[in-house]
Amino acid sequence: QKAEWSKLVHEPTVTSDGYHVELAANIGTPDDVKGVLANGAEGIGLYRTEFLYMGRSELPTEEEQFIAYKTVLERMEGKPVVVRTLDIGGDKELPYLELPKEMNPFLGFRAIRLCLEMQEMFRTQLRALLRASVYGNLKIMFPMIATLDEFRQAKAILLEEKEKLVQAGVPVAEFEVGMMVEIPAAAVLADQFAKEVDFFSIGTNDLIQYTMAADRMNERVSYLYQPYNPAILRLIANVIDAAHKEGKWAGMCGEMAGEEVAIPILLGLGLDEFSMSATSVLRARSQLKKLSKEEAASLKETILSMNTAEEVVAFVKQTFHIE
Ligand code: PEP
Ligand code: MG
Repeated sequence: QKAEWSKLVHEPTVTSDGYHVELAANIGTPDDVKGVLANGAEGIGLYRTEFLYMGRSELPTEEEQFIAYKTVLERMEGKPVVVRTLDIGGDKELPYLELPKEMNPFLGFRAIRLCLEMQEMFRTQLRALLRASVYGNLKIMFPMIATLDEFRQAKAILLEEKEKLVQAGVPVAEFEVGMMVEIPAAAVLADQFAKEVDFFSIGTNDLIQYTMAADRMNERVSYLYQPYNPAILRLIANVIDAAHKEGKWAGMCGEMAGEEVAIPILLGLGLDEFSMSATSVLRARSQLKKLSKEEAASLKETILSMNTAEEVVAFVKQTFHIE
């Protein structure tokens, strides 16, 4: 099987009925790009920039960040690279920020919430990204967006920094600006967000935990962590439909995007980009090439009207001959 997959490294991901989907990979550091290319990913769907800030005693400088972003963009040679701005908080702490302990860190002061308040830190990252934009195909994405106002503020700050650089004669390339959909409020109002973003990337790791109110790290409630719960699938469908109505694209960068049972469902819901760990890319490509998008799409209403995750999983496994 591995040998069969390795023949697919340089092939595009086209379904049996001729539709192209983008298979991308998630990375945490510039070193991860090797694995991305070795496994034939068509882009990077999530660059988690947190790691630049972690395991050290002070914030990374603009120059350090610029070099990291430039390196990734250059190594990807024009393939799309979605860089997520700092998503710290929750399970990822930065001791040197000396933030007070919280009762509910996952519901607390994290990610874009923190960046909108600690603006010097945020603006430094944005400048590094903007300066790196000329080295490849950059897309900028904000994490943990709950309200339109947060997205507008984040985008306004980004455009302010861009304007300052342009005024100073620094070259900045065109780039798309999108958001993670990982908070249920954003998934519900996706039609409104879709008018203002260039793209969505669905973060199911968090979207599931927030929708089911079940901590993704807590084993005792792991039975509630259900990617195939129809409530989750309807939210995902809502996000994809909303994006397409506005002519935008929708991807997924949560773990679910690489799961064998999820792939036919997501293809049928019309997902445009699947981003996963690099080691899953070839298996996913092999699976997608054998699937018909039309057939997968014809099952949409049936799946979305099911009652339980178990029912969905059993149906998909049987229909697509998954062990
Ligand atoms: C997600 O929430 O699905 C996601 C991709 O982000 P992270 O796992 O970094 O929270
Ligand atoms: Mg997340």
